[in-house]
Amino acid sequence: MMGVEPPVSGTDDRKSLSITVQARKAGGLVTMSAVAEPMTSPKMAAGITYDAIVIGAGMSGLYQLIRLRELGFKTRVFEAGTGVGGTWYWNRYPGCRFDSESYSYGFSFDKDLLQEWSWTEHFAPQPETEKYLNLVADKYDLRRDIQFQARVASAHWQETTRSWTVTLEDGSQHHSRFLITAIGALSAPTMPTFPGIKDFKGQSFHTGLWPKEKVDFAGKRVAVIGTGASGVQTIQEVAKTAAQLVVFQRTPNWCAPLHNGKISAAEMAEIRSRYDEIFKRCEETFSCFLHTPHPQNTFDVSAAEREAFLEKLYSERGFGIWVGNFQDMLTNRAANEEISRFIAKKIRQRVKDPKVAEMLIPKNHGFGTRRVPLETFYYECYNQPNVTLVDSKATPIERITPTGIKTSDAEYEFDIIVYATGFDALRGAFDRIDFRGTDGVTLKEIWQDGATSLVGMLQSRFPNMFMLLGPHTALGNIPRSIEFNVEWVSDLLAYAQQKGITRVEAQQEAMDRWMEHVMDLAKGLLSMEVDSWMTGVNLNVSGKQKRIVARYTGSAPGYRAWANDIAAKDYAGISMA
Ligand SMILES: Cc1cc2nc3c(=O)[nH]c(=O)nc-3n(C[C@H](O)[C@H](O)[C@H](O)COP(=O)(O)OP(=O)(O)OC[C@H]3O[C@@H](n4cnc5c(N)ncnc54)[C@H](O)[C@@H]3O)c2cc1C
Repeated sequence: MMGVEPPVSGTDDRKSLSITVQARKAGGLVTMSAVAEPMTSPKMAAGITYDAIVIGAGMSGLYQLIRLRELGFKTRVFEAGTGVGGTWYWNRYPGCRFDSESYSYGFSFDKDLLQEWSWTEHFAPQPETEKYLNLVADKYDLRRDIQFQARVASAHWQETTRSWTVTLEDGSQHHSRFLITAIGALSAPTMPTFPGIKDFKGQSFHTGLWPKEKVDFAGKRVAVIGTGASGVQTIQEVAKTAAQLVVFQRTPNWCAPLHNGKISAAEMAEIRSRYDEIFKRCEETFSCFLHTPHPQNTFDVSAAEREAFLEKLYSERGFGIWVGNFQDMLTNRAANEEISRFIAKKIRQRVKDPKVAEMLIPKNHGFGTRRVPLETFYYECYNQPNVTLVDSKATPIERITPTGIKTSDAEYEFDIIVYATGFDALRGAFDRIDFRGTDGVTLKEIWQDGATSLVGMLQSRFPNMFMLLGPHTALGNIPRSIEFNVEWVSDLLAYAQQKGITRVEAQQEAMDRWMEHVMDLAKGLLSMEVDSWMTGVNLNVSGKQKRIVARYTGSAPGYRAWANDIAAKDYAGISMA
């Protein structure tokens, strides 16, 4: 991957900018040169102010801006928040941190930055990642092209000018040849639908919209609603100081130990020396983590060997227990029952009250078929006298009251309510923008029965629009996919720029082939039998109660191969004019 040079231009002095871009061609990267086209008068006459508008200033938006500057594109980034970082800007809840190993998460494109930056923990806490992304923004002087507190309300395609009209919530309109969405896959927080939420007189927060000011839980009566990944991280932290913590759990999740730890200076020096190897490993593994499935099946080994292997995984850092387990764990029902039995045993060992332990053991899905929250003494919290677990399926929350929460069998008083109710995942941020393509068709109409795409990045009838981390991109250790997607889009734009192409649109046939592949990959996966954001279900969002193939479930190398093949064949399946 090439090292990025410092920003080569401001937005105004791009006249004779000579650039070098990497174009992905068959068999690897080839280098091609292009001369950035200055803003031409026909475009100005058509009222197109920008070459590209990017929505979102998280990791995707930041890296895309760097690449677009290299291409000499006049770019504007619109970001709803007041700072950069996306996920790591919004999610300031107590205990928020990585599940990816820190050193596998950072940007890999800037070798100097890799040598300058130190991660202090194997799984860095949110403030550290926010600081890191601010450092990236500083180093590349990105903020001058980012407009903060600028929430995009709509984006409408204009066929006559081959451009996008982007309207912000403040009513201002901006016109651009290309539109790149970097709006995140877990960025549209959802609240539950209980009545009375606004009546509560105490403090209340959604984990994904956490305030910048410190929230003090010491001596307070606190409710946490939700036990997904954010809920688990919040609970184990709040339990340390709250006078009373009541956890409202609708669906227990299978959690596994994170085994976080500090990184010493010597360890960081050693990590720095291995960055090439670390990122190479991430490029090769199934889901871009350092962990990858064990090549044996669960029952290929003896019971004793199996137990020893599971014990080893349970004692190691990170997602190994989920993504580094026996390769048939998520496809073979008996294998999945075996690992579920193992984790249930661990929960029973760690939680003293057998009734509470049973409440914490999922009964409606097997281990790993939903997103596995990683935890640090989460289960032990329930041994503390200040922590109570309420089964919200057995005794549903009926309403939020001015003083607390009323369930079907009790009324609780709280000072603070935390909504750890997650996100309208994958396409929620898309649904919140009025996207209109050719002939005014809305993206919502086209995605009525589930999102479609070409390699997660393009959608027919939405010309000149590219989606970073869109539906059906490889997820896993996400920055690795972000870098790939940004580079793929940038290469395509460089190609279009070189050939004077002003209209780029995915062909329906190519999309159909890709979507058929996405559907095929999901066949036989146990996760497809379970309600979760990974199957497009969110009980708090109307119209999202039915399971669908909501994401790409194949390997990241397989995903990249498909996308690279399109590029290698001169963007076969994409119409250019
Ligand atoms: C709590 C939490 C922990 C996570 N931990 C990990 C992890 O350990 N490993 C991992 O790989 N991934 C993790 N993720 C996923 C994480 O989202 C990605 O790793 C990555 O940060 C996504 O970057 P992004 O720029 O694509 O999206 P985001 O970081 O979500 O940024 C999107 C940006 O778009 C902006 N935006 C959205 N809509 C609009 C609009 N209409 N107008 C203007 N701006 C808009 C948002 O304000 C936001 O700043 C985690 C996610 C969460 C929520």
